[in-house]
Amino acid sequence: MLTKAIKGVKDILPQDVARWQAVERAARELFKVYGFSEVRVPIIEHTVLFTRSIGTTSDIVEKEMYAFTDRGGDEITLRPEGTAGVVRAFVEHKMYATNPITKIFYMGPMFRRERPQAGRLRQFHQIGAEVLGGAEPSVDVDVLALLYDFFQRLGVQGVALQINSLGCKDCRPRYREALKSFLDARRDMLCEDCQRRIETNPLRALDCKAAGCKVATADAPDMSEYLDDGCRDHFAAVRQGLDDLGIVYSINKRMVRGLDYYSRTTFEMVATDKAGAQNAVAAGGRYDGLVEELGGPSTPGIGFAMGVERLILMLPEDGTPAPGPALFVAALGDEAQRLGRRVAHGLRKSGVWAEYDYAGASLKSQMKKADRSGASRVLIIGEDELAKGVGILRDMKTKEQAELPLEGITGELVKRLS
Ligand code: ATP
Ligand code: MG
Repeated sequence: MLTKAIKGVKDILPQDVARWQAVERAARELFKVYGFSEVRVPIIEHTVLFTRSIGTTSDIVEKEMYAFTDRGGDEITLRPEGTAGVVRAFVEHKMYATNPITKIFYMGPMFRRERPQAGRLRQFHQIGAEVLGGAEPSVDVDVLALLYDFFQRLGVQGVALQINSLGCKDCRPRYREALKSFLDARRDMLCEDCQRRIETNPLRALDCKAAGCKVATADAPDMSEYLDDGCRDHFAAVRQGLDDLGIVYSINKRMVRGLDYYSRTTFEMVATDKAGAQNAVAAGGRYDGLVEELGGPSTPGIGFAMGVERLILMLPEDGTPAPGPALFVAALGDEAQRLGRRVAHGLRKSGVWAEYDYAGASLKSQMKKADRSGASRVLIIGEDELAKGVGILRDMKTKEQAELPLEGITGELVKRLS
C-alpha cells in the first residue's frame, strides 16, 4: 500500500517531464497569439456545479465522479472536467462586465473514476480553452483553428478533426423525439444502458460502442435534417470559415458528445489509426445555455479540452537526449573541494548548470559520476593542480584538455560556458 500509487493515478517521472513541459510551453505560446489568458481555478467544487452543468444522465455524473461529503457536511467533488469551474469563476467574478468576449485557458488534473487502461486514467490532465461571449460562427472558427494549429505545431501525425452540429434547444427536441421513436422500435437490439437512454438521453445511443447498438442505429435519423434555419446557417458559416483557413475536417453525424451542455457546433480531434474507445485526443463544442444555467447572464460559450496523456502518446519521438550539466567539478581533497563548490555556486548564480561531487572520493570515481551525469565538461582539480594554481578543463566529447589558472576561474568559466 505504502509504496504503490492509487490505481489509475500515475506519477510523471523526471525523465518524462520534458515532454509535458514542451506541450505546456507550446500551448502557452499559441494561446497567447490567439489572445487567450490563463485562469487557475480550484480542483474541488460544490458537487451541484457538475451535476447541474454536465447533466445527471451523463456518464461522468452517473458513474465517474469523485464526490464526497467533507467533514463539515458539504458536498464536494474533485473536478472531472474544466469548463464548469471556469464558467463558475466567470460568473462569480463578473468577467462579462469587463469585456464583451472573454478568452481563457487552463491546464491541470481532472478526476474520473473509470476503468483504468491505456489512455484512460482516474487522474488525468487536460489543457482547455474557452471563449465566453461570442455567438458568431467566427468564434467557432477561431477555436477550431487554435486546436488545429496546436496539433500541427506539435507535429502530431495521424489525427483528424471531426465536426458536427447538435442543433439548439429549439430544434433538438424534435430530433430527440424522432430518435426516441426510432430507438424504441429497435429496443431489443440495444444494450441495457441504451434501453435506459431512450428515455433519458437518446442521443447517447448514437455513440455507444456496443456492437448491437451500432447495428441498430446505423440508419438512425440524421440531426442535420432537423436543424432549424439559424443552426443550419451557423454550421454552414463555420464550415466556410474552416475552408477559408485551409483547415481540414470531416463531418461526423454521429458525434454527440457525452455532456449535456453542448449546442450547435461540436468537434473532436481523433486518432485515425484507432477505432472506438480512447481515440479522441481533444473534444469540445458550443454551450450557449451553460452560463445562464449556472446563474450568470445569458452568455454564449464555446471551448475544448485536450487530454494531455493521450496527446503525449502521439508526439513524434524526439531524438535529442536529455542535456546534462554544463560543468561537473571533480576535486580531490578538502581545500580543492571547497574551491570546487564555490566555482559551481558562482556558475549557478550566472545561470550556468554546474554540479560538483558531494562525496569527494577518488578522482577516478568522480570522473565516472561526471560521465554518468552527462556533463559536457569537467573541471579537474587534483592535488598537483592545486599546488600549481590551475584547474584542468576537459571537454567530455572531444577529450581535449586545457589548463586554466584558478585565480578568477569562475569568471573565465562563465564566459566559456554560457
Ligand atoms: P472518452 O470518450 O474517451 O471517455 P470523453 O468524451 O469522456 O472521452 P471529454 O470529457 O470530452 O472526454 O474530455 C476531453 C478529453 O480528455 C478526451 O478527448 C481525452 O483526451 C481526455 N480524457 C477524458 N477522460 C480521460 C481519462 N479518463 N483518462 C485520460 N484522458 C481522458
Ligand atoms: Mg469518458
